[in-house]
Amino acid sequence: MTSNAFNLYSQLPVCLQNLACSLAGLKIKRDRYDRTFHDSLKSLCESEWLTLAELQAYQDRQVARVIKHAYDTVPYYRRVMDENRLIPSDITKTADLVQLPLLSKDMVREYGDQLLSNSVPKKQMVEGHTGGTTGKALQLFADKGTQPRQWAVWWRHRRRFGLDINDDFIVFAGRNVIPLSNMNPPFWRRNIPMHQTYVSIHHMTKQNMPALLDYLQKRKVKYYSGYPSAVYLVAKYMLDNGITLPNPPDVTVLGAETLLPHQRRAMKEAFGGRITDQYGASEQCGNISECEHGNYHVDMEFGHIEFLPLKEDIPNVRRIVCTGFWNDAMPLIRYETGDLATISSENFTCPCGRKSPVVEKIDGRIESYIITPDGRQAGRLDFIFKDSWFIEEAQFIQENISSVKVKVVRSPEFKDEHEKKLLSDLRNYLGDVIQFEIEYVDAIPRTANGKFRQIISTVSSNRAN
Ligand SMILES: [Zn+2]
Repeated sequence: MTSNAFNLYSQLPVCLQNLACSLAGLKIKRDRYDRTFHDSLKSLCESEWLTLAELQAYQDRQVARVIKHAYDTVPYYRRVMDENRLIPSDITKTADLVQLPLLSKDMVREYGDQLLSNSVPKKQMVEGHTGGTTGKALQLFADKGTQPRQWAVWWRHRRRFGLDINDDFIVFAGRNVIPLSNMNPPFWRRNIPMHQTYVSIHHMTKQNMPALLDYLQKRKVKYYSGYPSAVYLVAKYMLDNGITLPNPPDVTVLGAETLLPHQRRAMKEAFGGRITDQYGASEQCGNISECEHGNYHVDMEFGHIEFLPLKEDIPNVRRIVCTGFWNDAMPLIRYETGDLATISSENFTCPCGRKSPVVEKIDGRIESYIITPDGRQAGRLDFIFKDSWFIEEAQFIQENISSVKVKVVRSPEFKDEHEKKLLSDLRNYLGDVIQFEIEYVDAIPRTANGKFRQIISTVSSNRAN
């Protein structure tokens, strides 16, 4: 929505805002769930049972196709392949991709239009942006088929848990559906064509939680979806206040941020049902989804993922590098997502029967690491939540190698001695060589699109580049 349109929308009464959301929903539904979507979903639900050799052969065919398309129609790839004395017949399978250089976010910024294919008219491209805590947002283009195919991959994941497009659901995410100046409930809007109720996470403050919970108790929906940090706020509030839902969701589907173990535990306790997660690169070039057994499978049909080493002393933590198969407007080949995953041992086979590779966990962003002066690297500081029921949220900010600022939102039970425990937990984990500065805050700011970052480090992002 443009800012003018949003200003106009903001002035409407709630019932008309709901109508506007439903009208927008009609268009989104038409674009997202088109013929391409239904065909892709059907084919994906069959291909997930192929053998590994069959899936790899499929990927090889896609790599050959994408490389030829890129060489023929994308100025950047034509130049890079010419410089490296490569022609399309040199790169016909996934193993051949290493001959091409990696593509960083900075390069995407720098080369801009040179990454666009001249086979797709720019008017037909869909423009998108990715956010980020460091650096400028990236401008990306996709052709019209990319989004329905991405949604088909996401719906294959949801189908594993018995969900259907026509099921009612509540989503907790970052779209501006409610003006920030709006201080009175409802903090949600209905989108009837998509069976969706959209809760604005920008309004999920302590003061507004009682009204939200009151509403959730009255609703009966098949599933919840949204950002882990937002859904966690609901679960934590329910557990802290002894609130239960008469009709809890059967399934909670997470994505868009790293799902941390303490968040998953709280959701399980608060809602029951199945809690499931998936990883999607925001550039729509790679995806990884949980199966019924809780293992993360690479969605091989959507793109090829290379798991490249990060550091010698943590050999299983790998950088996620993607080659997308479905965006002919702006093919991303060997694209550094800036995200990390921990790989499983090679001989792991998942009891679900799918043969696609499994990763043990998604670790989040590369800049989500604290680096200690003695050279250690620590991510996922969720250990501090294990016994720390007195902390609601915490964020770690590292701007230099010798100190870390910890922003803490205290729970009502917080007492002075808990600060000592927090500091001692941090020193036990990260050592005495780093200073901690604790700052108590009422809320942790989200990024512009409402995402929560547990660790923000300019030190590790500098090292990663
Ligand atoms: Zn599995």
